Amino acid sequence: MRARNLKLTDIFDFDADGGEMTLAGERVVLMDAVAMGLLRSQLITAFGMTGARSIFTRFGYTHGYRLAEAMKTAIPWEDEREWRVAGGRLHRLHGMVSFEPVKQSTHSPPPFAEAVWHDSYEADQHLLHHGQAEECVCWTLAGFASGYLSKAQGRTVYCIEESCRGKGDPVCRMVGRFREDWPEAQQAFFTFYESDCLNEALSTLQAQLKKVDRRLAQRRRELESEQDESGLVIRSLSMKTLLGQARRVASVDTSVLLQGESGAGKERIARFIHDASGRQAGPFVAINCAAVPESLIESELFGHARGSFTGATSDRPGLFESAKGGTLLLDEVAELPLPMQSKLLRVLQEREVRRVGENKTRSIDVRLIAATHRDLAAEVKANRFREDLFFRLRVIELQVPPLRERPEDILPLARQALARSAAREKLPLKELSPEASRRVLAHPWPGNVRELLNAMERALVLSPGKRIEASDLPPDVKQPAAPARHLGEQRTLAEIEREAILTTLAAERGSRARTAERLAIGQATLFRKLKQYQAEGHQVAPAA
Ligand code: ZN
Repeated sequence: MRARNLKLTDIFDFDADGGEMTLAGERVVLMDAVAMGLLRSQLITAFGMTGARSIFTRFGYTHGYRLAEAMKTAIPWEDEREWRVAGGRLHRLHGMVSFEPVKQSTHSPPPFAEAVWHDSYEADQHLLHHGQAEECVCWTLAGFASGYLSKAQGRTVYCIEESCRGKGDPVCRMVGRFREDWPEAQQAFFTFYESDCLNEALSTLQAQLKKVDRRLAQRRRELESEQDESGLVIRSLSMKTLLGQARRVASVDTSVLLQGESGAGKERIARFIHDASGRQAGPFVAINCAAVPESLIESELFGHARGSFTGATSDRPGLFESAKGGTLLLDEVAELPLPMQSKLLRVLQEREVRRVGENKTRSIDVRLIAATHRDLAAEVKANRFREDLFFRLRVIELQVPPLRERPEDILPLARQALARSAAREKLPLKELSPEASRRVLAHPWPGNVRELLNAMERALVLSPGKRIEASDLPPDVKQPAAPARHLGEQRTLAEIEREAILTTLAAERGSRARTAERLAIGQATLFRKLKQYQAEGHQVAPAA
């Protein structure tokens, strides 16, 4: 038998009644070309052109390779050469494409195989479902030719289209060379046969999904943060400003210092920065430096080797190592003893830690956020905190405002806390009575958000009625700040207030900010009152 005389009836075995059918002894099925086209279309949508091309190229390759294997013995060939060149004929017998060998190649050196393809089913399907492409699209055909030739030659042959009807050329033209004969400049298509193109397409897709996911999470956080029990209620301008700053800070990898009173929500802001940063997938590790005994803090932060001190029964990494790829929050950093401050500084400068009892250093990969309720600059002045460490930590400094400076947030926070407590304790949801709301608003909340959350939880649990009355509030909240002890004196409340303000201002050497803070009033209020006192002729200490 010669390849060009091969007929479908020589190899195709079927019953007119259907059922199992074979080609060269292998079971085959009849498949609708449009159905194949639709499958292709779906794979292109799912994996992109590159991913789909990789799938179809290798699908075609397997098909061609297996068929060559089966054909070798299925037909009494005139000689083995006839079997080797039968791939093109088989392509036609399969109804996929008509093969016309090119006799006079224009290529130099001439390729091992070259053909014009007519009526490619694959180009038709691509045009049908996707319209004209920008690249050649007969992927299974090129794969099939490569698979057949590789098996028949006993060496790897790769075929590629150099023109294609699918991209608007008049005909499809295929060129095949042994793998090693392909010039390096043209080897880019090898990737469809060899490297895991699909994985590449998938990982691109995954990266895109992750990005979308991150954006969604960010949006969700922003929505939630309007009513977040950790303090991220952002009705107030000061919190909106702070969150805006935190979001910008998140995008850079520098150290951040969070200052603010206890309970104001510094840890929550640190968490917000971590979640909005590129380190979001890494761990968020927090330590309260004030809560760890001085003797243990070094091992806690840097880790230790087995036997380095009593109780060190095994090697243990410190928090700097545990937070690798993520964020480490050093809360109450001002409480670190001075010798630890030096060690911390060295770690930050050298970006490596040494476990207690070890000589070896390990590099670290963390974003450090430090937090304190103290005025760290004042701690530096008082020689309780190293200035160099202060500057290192304070690359960016954020001030978390106390609750009393953002009164707009108090009632939304209280309502949110009540709702969450009710859900957690499986209690009916209750509202604050108008009088209770007034007391809650008037209270200075020295313990900030934390105090407010605790007060609401307590009130919800203890209140007997359908709503929370002023009498259900903790004692210091339900008592309005009473000027009772001054009542015996012959002074008005306004006089008492003026004296308190002016004395404090003088004591703070004119600092409006510190005066407002000490008196637990807003700076705007303070300014207004000072202006009024000046207008009334009182002596007001000049601004510091
Ligand atoms: Zn083509």
